[in-house]
Amino acid sequence: MIPVNEPLFISDEKKYLEKCIDEGWVSSDGSFVKEFEEGFSKYVGRKYGVAVSSGTAALEVAVGALGIKEGDEVIMPSFTIISCVLAVVNYGAVPVFIDSDPETFTIDVTKIEERITEKTKAIMAVHIYGHPCDMDPILEIAKKHNLLVIEDAAEAHGAEYLPDGRQGKGNPPSLEAMARQRKCGSFGDISIFSFYANKIITTGEGGMVLTDNEEYAERARSLRNLAFGKGEKRYHHEELARNYRMTNLQAALGVAQLNNIDKLVNIKINNAKKYTELLKDVKGLTLPIEKEWAKNVYWMYGVVLDPPSHEASARQGESLGMTAEDFAKKLLEAGVQTRPFFYPMHLQPVFEKYNKGNFPVSEKLARYGLYLPSGMALKESQIKEVVEAIKKILH
Ligand SMILES: *Cc1c(COP(=O)(O)O)cnc(C)c1O
Repeated sequence: MIPVNEPLFISDEKKYLEKCIDEGWVSSDGSFVKEFEEGFSKYVGRKYGVAVSSGTAALEVAVGALGIKEGDEVIMPSFTIISCVLAVVNYGAVPVFIDSDPETFTIDVTKIEERITEKTKAIMAVHIYGHPCDMDPILEIAKKHNLLVIEDAAEAHGAEYLPDGRQGKGNPPSLEAMARQRKCGSFGDISIFSFYANKIITTGEGGMVLTDNEEYAERARSLRNLAFGKGEKRYHHEELARNYRMTNLQAALGVAQLNNIDKLVNIKINNAKKYTELLKDVKGLTLPIEKEWAKNVYWMYGVVLDPPSHEASARQGESLGMTAEDFAKKLLEAGVQTRPFFYPMHLQPVFEKYNKGNFPVSEKLARYGLYLPSGMALKESQIKEVVEAIKKILH
């Protein structure tokens, strides 16, 4: 069986973990936590990093740090993980879902403005499967309407956005544009990453909140740690917050992984190149792309089956176009593990009351999309096996 994900530990992970155990520093008070926060925020290009216990916790802390509260509206894509919505509804705020761009699967920036109301407080931009959102229009809309931007870069460690790259690949971008090329996670008023085991670098479970704003960073530190008071007032609480601290053991893994991050990012990109090279002539399958303004890190190699054409489905009924579910079953029989795409948030029974609008792209992605084995430990021979299995099924 070729697993959909397998992490890779090829740096000082063991050595640093041993150091924690030998020295007895296993809680969040150990020195690796600070080292990881400083190292990772520097890597992304942000002033402050606040390490937490998961990406989900990071989103909740970020929403809280910005002061989003009951009745506020937060614009976000429907095609994302539940953590994004959870963070918002936990504060009594209202998620406003937007459909996706059919090529990048990220939020459709042309649909944002029509959903802005007096209550809108923020836009949550989620980079999907390693491909950045189109940040410039998002930042422009936010500025125009005085909104905050929360950036979820959980799937986009090392991904970059090149704003003026839109003149096309043949045309080299200006020096000024190159200077504006920045890593995902450096654009929002606040941004988050996850270090779950299948993310580009991992701490097992873990996350981080990043910002350039000192006040948000201070609030994030408080919100990850039970909102303890300062100094003498330690056990006085002015608001409620949970324990979302990252342990020194997790951070030790993080520091070791971070030492290797360029290598890990390149593994993802190279594996994607191999898949694309081998799959590009297969009919009926759309492969992931890289916009001219983006550096895609291909966190997961997502493919989308062509839906049945209108004439064909009229003739032969629904059975013609294979769904991702059928495709996944056949791949599994051939020894290839896959994962379905996100099931859109507007269709979740728990979020029924927020299902407003039309979401044809997210619904199509959910029905026809899945991702192939994309782990760090994936071998070239396994990529070939996956491709062979696909070709047999789709011949
Ligand atoms: C993985 C992920 C998260 C949540 O991270 P956890 O560490 O698993 O809680 C949040 N947002 C996105 C887009 C993710 O892919």
